[in-house]
Amino acid sequence: MDAVGRVHTFVRVKPTANFAQDMIKFGPDNKSVNIYIKKDARKGVVNNTQTDWSFRLDGVLHNTSQELAYETVAQKLVSEALSGYNGTIMCYGQTGAGKTYTMTGVTTEYKHRGIIPRAIQQVFKATARSIDPLVTVRISYLEIYNETMFDLLSPTGSGPGGTPMAVVDCPQGVYVKGLSIHPVSDEEDALSLLWEGDANRVIAEHTLNKNSSRSHCIFTIYIESHFRAFSDVKCITSKINLIDLAGSERLGKTGSEGQVLKEAAYINKSLLFLEQIVIALADPKRDHVPFRQSKLTHVLKDSLGGNCNTVLVANICGEAVHVEETLSSLRFATRMKWITTAPVINKTYNQEGVVKALEKEVDLLRQELAMHDSLANRSSVTYEPLTDTQVAEIKSQVHSYLQGTIDEIDIVNVRQIQEVFKQFKLILRQQEHEVKARLRHKYLLIDKTDGAAVAALQKTGVADVDGNLLQEECGTRRGKKKKTRKSNEQPKKERIRNSLAGRDVDGSSRSKSRARIPTKDLDVKQGARNQNTATMGAELSKPALAEDFQRPRSPPPKPVAFEQFKEEYGSEINRVFKENKRILLAKKKRSSVVAQSISFIKREMENVQKALEAQQQERWQQGEHVDEKGQLIMDEELLLSMKLEDLKEEYRSAQAELQELRAEVQRCQQLVDQCRNKLISEFEIWYNESFLIPKDLREALKPGGNIRPGMIPINRVMCLEEDVQERFEQLQEAALPACPASVSFYRAKMKTDQKHAYSRAMSSLEKMRKKPGLITAAGKTKPLSFLHVE
Ligand code: ADP
Ligand code: MG
Repeated sequence: MDAVGRVHTFVRVKPTANFAQDMIKFGPDNKSVNIYIKKDARKGVVNNTQTDWSFRLDGVLHNTSQELAYETVAQKLVSEALSGYNGTIMCYGQTGAGKTYTMTGVTTEYKHRGIIPRAIQQVFKATARSIDPLVTVRISYLEIYNETMFDLLSPTGSGPGGTPMAVVDCPQGVYVKGLSIHPVSDEEDALSLLWEGDANRVIAEHTLNKNSSRSHCIFTIYIESHFRAFSDVKCITSKINLIDLAGSERLGKTGSEGQVLKEAAYINKSLLFLEQIVIALADPKRDHVPFRQSKLTHVLKDSLGGNCNTVLVANICGEAVHVEETLSSLRFATRMKWITTAPVINKTYNQEGVVKALEKEVDLLRQELAMHDSLANRSSVTYEPLTDTQVAEIKSQVHSYLQGTIDEIDIVNVRQIQEVFKQFKLILRQQEHEVKARLRHKYLLIDKTDGAAVAALQKTGVADVDGNLLQEECGTRRGKKKKTRKSNEQPKKERIRNSLAGRDVDGSSRSKSRARIPTKDLDVKQGARNQNTATMGAELSKPALAEDFQRPRSPPPKPVAFEQFKEEYGSEINRVFKENKRILLAKKKRSSVVAQSISFIKREMENVQKALEAQQQERWQQGEHVDEKGQLIMDEELLLSMKLEDLKEEYRSAQAELQELRAEVQRCQQLVDQCRNKLISEFEIWYNESFLIPKDLREALKPGGNIRPGMIPINRVMCLEEDVQERFEQLQEAALPACPASVSFYRAKMKTDQKHAYSRAMSSLEKMRKKPGLITAAGKTKPLSFLHVE
């Protein structure tokens, strides 16, 4: 740009079908705009005797593509920023005139992206070409709303409740204290921040009831290049401010009230101050420029005129109704034009500070190198062995590191590093061993291509004639008592092992084609319907998995996972399930005891009855009242009838008890079934959430997290990523062949969308949050009552 120049101004007209062609005319060189207002129309519109206005600018963008707009307005400014000149581009104009379209553009279409994405692309293209690698690019995104500053990229949020921000003047320029500045390594990173900031702005618009057209947004790209010129180390810094100003419309006339009025006052004030500053800057005689009057002007102190390249885009609407605002915007633009600029390269220096900083870096590199060398030569160096205490200390550090209680292990020396690796190896071995042992316990491994082994299995009925594995049918277990099943199963297992004797049952065979034979299968869904109490009991009595069982990346087999589930998340329901089964069993036992005693009583009654009848017979035949022993027959008859009565009574009460017990058994059986279903359905949910849901979501579902497992509609969760992915693929398909440079643009957009879709899903899930389905264990204290599950 010019050595001594001025602010460059452009007008961009928003395309419209109702362009007021009689009112707005462009000069033949496309550098001027003339406004004509007919006398009658003038009356109510402008209270001025002048009817025609002519504005000279640096260019008129009418029906101009985003690409051409960028080339005209920004390209030179950005390339100069890469050489160390600060640059500022501002869009000014009434709401709806196209400021955001010009600055940010359409976020879903690469072709229609605005100045910011294009500037980012230009910066990174240039830094990729640069021979000197020490270029760092950083980004900040600031919003000023009602004289309050908001960091659109702050992880914690800012403004009310967040870190208070302040504009600070210092000899190097102006900066905003508390505004986060993010280093970015490539175009995609920088674009992600832009989308992120825009999304945050939209969120704040809803939550804080803000109106985004009433805020100023400043996206800043900071460029810092270090390079060597002969023996000097030079550092050049520059920043590009890309500003989407608040709507310039005068709201007073619409009679806005309350919040809007306050907002209007603030924007009017800040835009008015901006205008005043523009006038002051344009006046060479004026020595004081009141930058501090508003946040906007204060922040822009070193970005307006002076040693900065400044460009203003006045966005106007082409319709007649907007002519008043159009006039006002054009006036602002022409005033702006009178500000002189004398851009200077921002600090080209070989100052001590930079040299020192670089020396420090070199020192660090040297240290790293030394460490690397000593690592490389470690075989030739001998070390004192570590003491037992030192080893124990390292071991405990490694454990803490694996458990996540410490984030990193400090590197002390080579011996310590070696010991750390050794400890890792030990833990790995140990885990491998445990997993193998567990799997061996559950599965019998054979080589499927091994004919003899398959034949042996066919004999035992585990494999069919084609060598396919036959799953133990749940139905065959039905009705079998626990004891029976166990005694049946054991010899079967033995049989398999025996028939495979001499073979490699542990799976160390060379062939890769391998069959897993479940010695106890558990098709959980099927199990819910078919398996009886005893079968389930057998499952429950199996040894549990170790606490520190590492969740593999690919889902573990369900039977393995089921064991883990019962130990961890499902332990309470499993306890209730077992308790209910214990009660059921006790009731059943009691029932059979009572049933047995009933049949005994019945037999007794029959006997007594017979005896009684015999007595009576004898009495009638002999007519005697004494028997052989001289005892009165009547007495004996009486005794027998009394005994019969007692027995009858006993029989009745036993019958009653039996009946009651049967009802209880039935009810208890229902509860056991219910428990089993619950155990299995909870397991299904747990399995999905533990192994099929993406890792970050899993974190939120961990115990203590406020989202109850089971509430996540798994299909929906899995769709979150797919939706965005799918859209991205569609976009890519459409855009990529024509424009391979759009990859970063779409990728960054996809990432931001994904992130926001995720947080939206999470927050709506939190809203849906219900009380967890508790397992009532109230019956625990009462003997022989059942435990209920919800
Ligand atoms: P502002 O930020 O000034 O309030 P916007 O940039 O949001 O206005 O523009 C309002 C609408 O007009 C948007 O839908 C935008 O896409 C559209 N628009 C603005 N300028 C143009 C243009 N030059 N070409 C096509 N559409 C435009
Ligand atoms: Mg806008």
